[in-house]
Amino acid sequence: MQRSLSQIPAEVLRVTEKLQKAGFEAWVVGGCVRDLVLGKKPNDWDVTTNANPDEIQGLFEKTFYTNEFGTVGVVNEGIEDDTLKVVEVTPYRTEGRYSDARRPDTVVFSHKLEEDLKRRDFTINALAFDPSQNKLVDLYDGIKDIKDNRLRAVGEPRERFEEDALRILRAVRLSAELNFSIEELTKEAMKQTVSQLGKISKERVRDEFIRILNSPKPMKALLLAHSMGVLAHISPELEQGVGVLQNQAHKYDVFEHNMRTLQHAADKEWPLIIRLAGLFHDVGKPKARRWSEEKKDWTFHGHEVVGARMVKKILEGLKFPRETIDLAERLVRWHMFFSDPEKVTLSAVRRLINNVGREHIDELINLRICDRIGTGRPKEQPFRLRKYQSMIAQALQDPISVGMLATDGKRVMEVTREKPGPRVGWILHALLEEVLDDPAKNTAEYLEKKVVELAALPPKELQAKGEGGKEKKEEAQEEEIKEIRKKYFVD
Ligand code: ATP
Ligand code: MG
Repeated sequence: MQRSLSQIPAEVLRVTEKLQKAGFEAWVVGGCVRDLVLGKKPNDWDVTTNANPDEIQGLFEKTFYTNEFGTVGVVNEGIEDDTLKVVEVTPYRTEGRYSDARRPDTVVFSHKLEEDLKRRDFTINALAFDPSQNKLVDLYDGIKDIKDNRLRAVGEPRERFEEDALRILRAVRLSAELNFSIEELTKEAMKQTVSQLGKISKERVRDEFIRILNSPKPMKALLLAHSMGVLAHISPELEQGVGVLQNQAHKYDVFEHNMRTLQHAADKEWPLIIRLAGLFHDVGKPKARRWSEEKKDWTFHGHEVVGARMVKKILEGLKFPRETIDLAERLVRWHMFFSDPEKVTLSAVRRLINNVGREHIDELINLRICDRIGTGRPKEQPFRLRKYQSMIAQALQDPISVGMLATDGKRVMEVTREKPGPRVGWILHALLEEVLDDPAKNTAEYLEKKVVELAALPPKELQAKGEGGKEKKEEAQEEEIKEIRKKYFVD
């Protein structure tokens, strides 16, 4: 364990050493020490010291204030690694009274490391390490909790969550990222104080929510959040799906199906947008559910329209960026696309691509994959899906046509003084045939020379060449489709 603590980068050592040479104490502290012990690469590096903000700033060339708590950002110049560009140095703090469950009314600097560790959220985050003495300070048995994969509040849990309700979300997020359990008393205290989450800004809720979604086990974390009343502060709309049974094709209620769809996106390590769309794709189902006497089953007609509206509102409420909101809305809106490759037409595929956007069609397919797995069906039905994907590739393909040529009808008429008519078309198709055989010939210079030769041919001969070119075009198109089908293994 001590060995992993020796992995502190030079950019951080530079900071602690400089402080110590100037006669101050300096400790690497908090989440980065936790991550080192876990053998993970820290997201950011924090140092705590008994120097005050002015003293810190006096020691380093390039610094800036990062917040109102006296934190000084020490800049490392010319560093590639984003996590090391700024080392945050904060004076030892004790905190004053909290009257808003969010930030201390006053920040008081302290002379004691112990005071600073006491105000930290969880035992695993209350570790301090001095590299010059190779000394670890662990006043709350954080190392043992790391070994036992357990999150435990420092001190009296209820007080700690009442001071700062963001810690409730941090607990869920850290347990998701680290795959740690939450110790019972800590969990109890979270449940008792959960209503305080209403005081936390939407931006902070969003940031923790994103980290939960991006963790390896978001479903487990959100189920935990649900059981503790935390999810209701993120998206109560999701909870409307609890106990909402679906039709016979589904094993799970709407809530669990949404969760499983999200989890598959995480299992595939797909990006946030798929996870978001997966989690919310059926959020409109509880509102759209109707009983069909004819089918003797539930129906959900239009749930994707209701759901798209809902996801827009939910993500707006959580202050997601406009681009993310628009795309999530679109993916939810079109997730029900008809995909039976035996029956779907190429023009329907083109319409779908138009609706979600060329560059997002793969995301829609991936959402569909997650949706299927989320129903509890054993397979993704790879063959049918690949067949559908080959149709998408076909629809996306630029058509083989005279439009590919480095010249056009207008230029042909200028060069040859031909009138508009079939002869211009024959000339262009004759050129296309040559270019398909040898793409290197597709230059304005070569083609113009060729145009003159073609225009001089007897009419019958030109016509024959032109028609030969059209056939060649069709063959090339078929060839291309075959290639696509081969690529998706659908032949
Ligand atoms: P990560 O860097 O992965 O987000 P972290 O635990 O390091 O996780 P930071 O925001 O970097 O989180 O905070 C650094 C340290 O500051 C924490 O490890 C913890 O000791 C302390 N800390 C952060 N937020 C709080 C809080 N709300 N209450 C108490 N201590 C906190
Ligand atoms: Mg950190």
